Amino acid sequence: MSTLSERRLAVMKGARITVKCDCGEINYVDYGEIWQCPKCRRRWNTSQIPAEEYWGLMHDMRRERYTIMGAALGVGVAFLVLAFAVSEAFIFLLPVTFGGWYLMYMPRWRKRLRMKARAAPTWELRPE
Ligand SMILES: [Zn+2]
Repeated sequence: MSTLSERRLAVMKGARITVKCDCGEINYVDYGEIWQCPKCRRRWNTSQIPAEEYWGLMHDMRRERYTIMGAALGVGVAFLVLAFAVSEAFIFLLPVTFGGWYLMYMPRWRKRLRMKARAAPTWELRPE
């Protein structure tokens, strides 16, 4: 149709891929799916993305989330152990600790993840 036949993709935080059509339409498509633009009928096939690149990225994102969940769990368990072994007062410190964590650490963590997602690769797709 035109020389503007290639469009890029960006990977979002989750498993979905942002597909931008030449005509400006945007849709979020699962990897391996084909999306047909409702406006111009171009078909975009996300399986043109190399599987190892896509899944490598997903694996990376998932590991980030598991790490933070594991850390939170570790802190929670540590406080429970302290509460049983040392003093029940630690139970009351737990919400304070998590509150502080949530306010101080999580925004930084989210920001880092956002920057990572933004730096994620983009791929050129050809309409089919
Ligand atoms: Zn379109």
